[in-house]
Amino acid sequence: MLLANYHIHSDYCDGKNTLEEMVVAGIASGLTSMGLSSHLPLPFPNDWTMKEDDLEDYLNDVKALKEKYAPQIELYCGMEIDFFIDRQDISDLAKSVIPRLDYTIMSVHTLGKTIGVEVSYIDESQQNFAQGIKKYYQGDNQAFITDYYQGIAKMVNMFEPDILGHIDLIKKYNQNNHFFNERDRWYQETVKDCLDTVAAQNTRIEINTGANLRIPGVGRYPSDWMIPEMKKRNIPITVGGDSHSVAGIVFEYNEAETYLAECGYQEYWILKKGRWEAQPLGV
Ligand SMILES: [Zn+2]
Ligand SMILES: [Zn+2]
Repeated sequence: MLLANYHIHSDYCDGKNTLEEMVVAGIASGLTSMGLSSHLPLPFPNDWTMKEDDLEDYLNDVKALKEKYAPQIELYCGMEIDFFIDRQDISDLAKSVIPRLDYTIMSVHTLGKTIGVEVSYIDESQQNFAQGIKKYYQGDNQAFITDYYQGIAKMVNMFEPDILGHIDLIKKYNQNNHFFNERDRWYQETVKDCLDTVAAQNTRIEINTGANLRIPGVGRYPSDWMIPEMKKRNIPITVGGDSHSVAGIVFEYNEAETYLAECGYQEYWILKKGRWEAQPLGV
């Protein structure tokens, strides 16, 4: 059974439950190591990340929970940090907060310009995503997707986050191959180039099990065909629920564990006594 989850949201951002409710649910599910990872405040208005004014409270709350629940579970303080492809950078706030965190998840959620405009998102709605590609890439899906994976590679090269979040989030609204076909050679080659870069760094790729809870049928991030490609490159992994409610704490964990073993993965990485360690799968 999988023992950890490092991708957990709460009502500090767009999650439904409090930090403590998430911790209690994690303990009840048998987790032994958990990371809290609210969305870091963004440098533009939005309705899904933490507010900057709440940052100190968040850090203090996680610290208090760590102590309170120490006999039952190891807790870690993380945040999900946005990398902006247009800026080829993370925010100044992110850079100042990272030294205070136990670990980082880095992800890309935005598309096109993030300064001085209403920002477009990859994961807000299919319509918003399509409009973004139209606005910034003249509707050229392939041009955007290439930019996206090159951006992810750049992010990993520049910042070596502990965890790379939902590497193929761009498939969230790709039902019926609306934007691209994952079987196309160009798509697979683009992904493999990105994996080559990740393999050369110390970043772990997250097996993100939460997608089906929000949109049934999306599957997991990364898609099944990518896992053997990751294994071939010896890319280390973590498992995370991207949990936005107590119901998502270990959502589809058993399925993920079975599939990882089928692909030849024998271990995943967990934080133990403050250090990353390889943990055998299936134990
Ligand atoms: Zn995310
Ligand atoms: Zn998340």
